[in-house]
Amino acid sequence: MTAPLIDPFQRPISYLRLSVTDRCDFRCVYCMSEQMTFLPKKDLLTLEELDRLCTSFINLGVEKLRITGGEPLVRRNIMSFFNAMSRHLDTGALKELTLTTNGSQLEKYAKDLFAAGVRRINVSIDTLEDAKFTEVTRWGRLSQVLRGLDAAQDAGLRVKLNAVALKNFNEDELFTMAEFCAKRDMDMTWIEVMPMGDIGNETRIGQYWSLKDLRATLAEKYTLTDLSERSGGPARYVRLEETGQKIGFITPLSHNFCESCNRVRITCTGSIYTCLGQEGNSDLRAPLRASDDPDALADAIRAAISLKPKGHDFDYSRQSVDGRVSRHMSHTGG
Ligand code: SAM
Ligand code: SF4
Repeated sequence: MTAPLIDPFQRPISYLRLSVTDRCDFRCVYCMSEQMTFLPKKDLLTLEELDRLCTSFINLGVEKLRITGGEPLVRRNIMSFFNAMSRHLDTGALKELTLTTNGSQLEKYAKDLFAAGVRRINVSIDTLEDAKFTEVTRWGRLSQVLRGLDAAQDAGLRVKLNAVALKNFNEDELFTMAEFCAKRDMDMTWIEVMPMGDIGNETRIGQYWSLKDLRATLAEKYTLTDLSERSGGPARYVRLEETGQKIGFITPLSHNFCESCNRVRITCTGSIYTCLGQEGNSDLRAPLRASDDPDALADAIRAAISLKPKGHDFDYSRQSVDGRVSRHMSHTGG
């Protein structure tokens, strides 16, 4: 009988976010620079290694697996990985298999994802205006993503929309986006922009817009009811009484959520980050490649979890953004 993963602060680890690639077909201004150098292929975990790793975590009690990136759906043969993971849904060991995507490939993959057992996905859209969409993603086209949304909903996937709150960029779309989601029966989450990685000289977009302000503006038009539900992550939810929708706020910077953190993140190269906001990490690729022994891998995972810190150090309260971490979100996976 394998003991479940418990960190030094008695938090059970039940949620794994896995980045399957650092590559992406977009270049969102707050996430990447336009000229990104991606990792050499040999550094990435193979699909077989990803499978062994996830299987080990699931055997150790992980019940929710979120696939992210980069853009997870641009990884070659990624559907074979989803199909392989569905065996853990069949046994009941895995309760949820999900992904966060920019939506560009959903038209192609929505049905296959549903067939593999995915039931809910997060799609990131920061604006509903064509020109602004291309401005923020640099390489993206809104029409393609909207076709992806249609395909996902037609396939039976429940969609939640993620938007990064950007001052002077999408502040004026707060109500339009809420209504767009209400019409499509989608919940949505606003994310505070986090200080991650070198993203070049962006000044116009990418500024911090406090979700406290956003929430106050939302309350001018809608009746907000706080929901007690917690996902073990940084999101806090309200319901808009007029539409029945759930709106989440991910506020790692203005609200401390670490006490209930149940998650760890793994990069596409097999580094495990037990806190999104800290540099500390352990390498799981070396033990994965050193032997096929599942016990050795489980030991390496336990050793990594024993180093999970109590919390993050992001801080926007001073003049500069303190607690900055050097890696890109696309490396760790959002
Ligand atoms: N490519 C996929 C997507 O865009 O949904 C998955 C990976 S992306 C890194 C995951 C999420 O992180 C997206 O919702 C994105 O908007 C968000 N993100 C990226 N960089 C961020 C930053 N610096 N601060 C806050 N959120 C960020
Ligand atoms: Fe790509 Fe997602 Fe980063 Fe945008 S946020 S560049 S879609 S990984």
